[in-house]
Parts: sequence; C-alpha cells; structure tokens
Amino acid sequence: MIPVTSFAGRRAALFGLGGSGLASARALASGGAELSVWDDNGAARERARAEGFAVADLRDADWSRFDSFVLSPGVPLTHPAPHWSAAMARAAGVEIIGDIELFCRERAKRAPDAPFAAVTGTNGKSTTTALIAHILRQAGRDTQMGGNIGVPVLALEPPAMGRFHVIECSSFQIDLAPSLAPTAGVLLNLTPDHIERHGTMANYAAVKERLVSGARTAVVGVDDSWCLNIWRERRKRESGALAVSRRMASLPGEVHYEDEDGIDRSLYFEPASSRGKPKVMPGSLPALRGAHNWQNAAAAYSVCAILEISHAEIAAGLASYPGLPHRMEEAARVGRVLFVNDSKATNADAAEKALLSYDDIFWIAGGKPKEGGIAPLRPLFSKIRKAYLIGESMDEFAATLGGDAAFERCGTLDAAIAAAARDAALSGAREPVVLLSPACASYDQFTDFEARGNAFRDSARALMARAAPDKGA
Ligand code: ADP
Repeated sequence: MIPVTSFAGRRAALFGLGGSGLASARALASGGAELSVWDDNGAARERARAEGFAVADLRDADWSRFDSFVLSPGVPLTHPAPHWSAAMARAAGVEIIGDIELFCRERAKRAPDAPFAAVTGTNGKSTTTALIAHILRQAGRDTQMGGNIGVPVLALEPPAMGRFHVIECSSFQIDLAPSLAPTAGVLLNLTPDHIERHGTMANYAAVKERLVSGARTAVVGVDDSWCLNIWRERRKRESGALAVSRRMASLPGEVHYEDEDGIDRSLYFEPASSRGKPKVMPGSLPALRGAHNWQNAAAAYSVCAILEISHAEIAAGLASYPGLPHRMEEAARVGRVLFVNDSKATNADAAEKALLSYDDIFWIAGGKPKEGGIAPLRPLFSKIRKAYLIGESMDEFAATLGGDAAFERCGTLDAAIAAAARDAALSGAREPVVLLSPACASYDQFTDFEARGNAFRDSARALMARAAPDKGA
C-alpha cells in the first residue's frame, strides 16, 4: 500500500467504495487524512464500515469542511450528467481527484524522479502495460504494475528511486489526475468509445491527450488521425516525442521519428541492423500476433528504451512475453489444430483484429450482440472456413453471414467447440485455428468474458489431454 502522506491532517470526502475506492480510503487513512466515505450501494458501505471507516451520507455533509473530494473513476464526472456528489463538490469549490492523482502527488513528494510509465489509448492498454512490466521484470528491475489493470495503484508499493511503476490509465482516471506527469507517457490510439461519458470525441481525445502532455517523454501511436495530430502538436514543443506505427508494410512495429530536418527515421526493428543490434522480428513473438500487437510492442519498446533498458534486454522480454488471458491467448494445441481464446473481443472491432491475425479460421462467434453486429467484418468472411454460432445473436449472425461463409447454429459454446474441433482436424489446412472471438458480450450465457474464456480454455485443454493421455499428468 502507498500511504498518502501528502494528505496528513487534511479532510477528504470519498465516493465509490469498490476495489479502487477502498484501496484509496486505506491509503488516505494510513497517510493521516480525516476521511468521510460513501457509496450508493449498501453492501459496499457495510464493507467500509467493517474496516472502521467513517461512513456518512455525503448528501448531508458540510462540504465547506473538505479540502479534497476523491471520486471513483466509474462515477460520471461530467457526462451524461455529473453525479450528485461531483455536483456538490463543484458547488462548494472542492477539488475533485482520483487515485492516480493521489499516487502522482505521493511520487512528487517521495521520489519525483522515480521511473514511471503511464499507458492509455482506446485499445491495447492492458497488453502494452503488461508487456512493459514483463520486459522490466525480465531485466531484473523492481517493477510495480497496476492502475486500470489488476491492482489499484494505491495498493502497490510506494514510489522509490530504482523502482519502476507501470500504470494503465483509463480516460476517467486521467480526467481525475490533473498532475499526471509520467517519465514516459503512451497514447496508443483513439477511436470513438465511452463517448456517452465524455460528451464528444473531441472531449474524449482531449482527456487522453493530457497523459502525454504531462509526460517527460511522449510515445504516440500515429495510425489514426486524432493521435497523429496530437503527436504533431507535441513535436512542435518537444523533439524527442516518439511516434510508433504499425503501418510499415515490410516491417510492422517499427518505431520511427522525425529528425530536426523533418526526415522520417526508424529507430528500432531495423531489418539489417547497421548498428549491430539484434533484430526483433514479428514472427518470433508468438504472444504478439497481428499488426495491432505491433503497435503495442513498438510502444512498449519505446518506453523501455526511454527507461534505459538495453536493446538486448527488451528483445529478450518481448520474446518471452506470455500474453494476457482472453486476448488471442493460445489456449491449447491438438495435433495441427490451434485453439485461440479471444473472449475479450466483445465487439466487431476487437474480433476484426483476431480474424486478421490468422488464416484457416474455424470461428466461434455470438452471444449478446452489440449494435451493428458482425456486418463490419464482411471483408474478412473469406478467411473463415466455417462459423459456429452461439448465444442470443445466432439468427442475426446467420443472416449476416448468409451465403458468404459456411456456418452452423450450435447454440452453446460446448457444442461449438466440439463441432469446430472436429472440422478443423479433418481440414487439410497446415495450422487450422479454432478461434473464440465472439464479437459479443457474454452476459446471455456467462457471468462475464472471463468465465466464457475459461470455459473455452478448459474444453480445449481437455481435448488436448484426451489426444495425448500419457502427457496429461
Ligand atoms: P484494453 O486494455 O485497452 O481494453 P487490451 O490490451 O485488453 O486493451 O486488448 C483488448 C482487445 O483490443 C484485444 O483483444 C484486441 O482485439 C484489441 N487490441 C489490442 N491492442 C490493440 C491496438 N493496438 N489497436 C487496436 N486494437 C487492439
């Protein structure tokens, strides 16, 4: 835990007692703050009360007493309408901040030069954050990873010289962190998402941009026009700002930058290294398939280089990265057939990345459909040997596939795996892929995407154990 000593003797109100809210309350209390906490959910209030926190309805509070208001990132700050607690804080002129801000203030006080990487973007945040942390750990660095991934930031070990913090930030967290100033700040990409919480795309982009504007060195993915503009603006002020791109036709993932004369120069992943560096080639990184992952890998490479990790150490870390569960996770292999769990792909955009990354696909899709369904994936239907449809979206997806791809209505995930495994094994393909990339939410049949992915992985591994029983134990 990181005791928030910068709040010693200060009065703070806190709303939202989920995982990160409770971690903030503990960190503030142990730093010596005087706290009033609240949540609309009775069970959450009880948990906080049991830990000894002063639970009080903030609707009845005298807000002029508070120095700061700590808000959970899940609670609307501005759109569609400010939460009542945010409105009360604003009316009383009390600053509204979140846990990342508390971390930043603590770092500024204890170890302002401690290495700190912050990662945001619409997609790829968790992959890039986990990849940076993996490279640092493999290189023997004392590494703390958290934020919007895994452990709340204030539940980590405190900032200290020689200790690396790698923090994933959602747009909501950035909105609540005015003094966010990482050593290296990454903005991967920007596509419309959570617009209901930010009002407009321009507002959403402006919030995300704050993570790189505060960074000592910025790393920006330049494959969309929003990010490209942000990088150009940044380059006017800071020549060291790095652009990473996945569009390099011959060399996906190349990190490049413009020199003082405006000439585009590549920095890493050179084909024949004039500087004697070992190459890092896409094909050698099994857990980072697909061009989208090259954007993530290039960003991770840049951050680690900024943090003074050597090329050889970064290359070793990239090569040994095991991947994250449920994101194009290689779950099992049965003979030539590869089983890939991409349960995190809950919309067509994410499923597109997986369909682009493999050939000879036996595709398990469906669940609780999102608006637009799988129509945007039509250009990729030719890659699909056959689709195995499950869940609520079965009829809708069957109609979209029509005569453009073979499909079977399977209903359940179990039935789909059995059918897809059978067809894949009988196919003549060199590496047939049974791919769960549903392009749908899971709630019609599972508690969440993790439960769906776990079920897929268990079934695939059971098939693997059956195929090689002597290796099972
Ligand atoms: P996030 O934490 O931002 O949700 P993840 O790393 O968990 O991102 O990846 C979620 C999904 O987003 C992946 O399964 C993949 O489909 C897609 N994705 C990952 N990286 C990128 C990227 N750089 N660009 C576009 N899509 C990506």
